[in-house]
Amino acid sequence: MTHTCKNLLIRCMDFRLNAEVKRWTKESELFEGGFDIVSVAGACKNLADGSEEIKESFLGNVAVSVDLHKAEKIIIFHHSDCGAYAQSYDFSSIEEEKIKQIEDMEKAKEIILEKYPNVEVVLVFGTMKDGEGREVDFDIIKY
Ligand SMILES: [Zn+2]
Repeated sequence: MTHTCKNLLIRCMDFRLNAEVKRWTKESELFEGGFDIVSVAGACKNLADGSEEIKESFLGNVAVSVDLHKAEKIIIFHHSDCGAYAQSYDFSSIEEEKIKQIEDMEKAKEIILEKYPNVEVVLVFGTMKDGEGREVDFDIIKY
């Protein structure tokens, strides 16, 4: 008996995102083949700036998805107005917050690729159009 899926979504736990993330994962071809979810405060923030112990624990979740479920693509999803970032930083603008988060997402991508060089990592930043998360724009970070 095998149970596998193609993708892993690493997202922030923020409840305000739930409805829009549900819509996005249904509509976007990024999630074809099914997906696991790692849902933690700040998404990859702890992987980028946490202690070695926290990073190991985080990567343990990634390991279950990649090694056991055979996920081939990891979608890292961060969002604006993130409480986990607000606890650590005092951003003066939305743009500044986004720059810092993308920096962390790129750091997390590097750490993941070091361990799993064959996976594809996609970075997505969600801009919340209002405080309640009724509408979120999902933008793939392009280089
Ligand atoms: Zn958040």
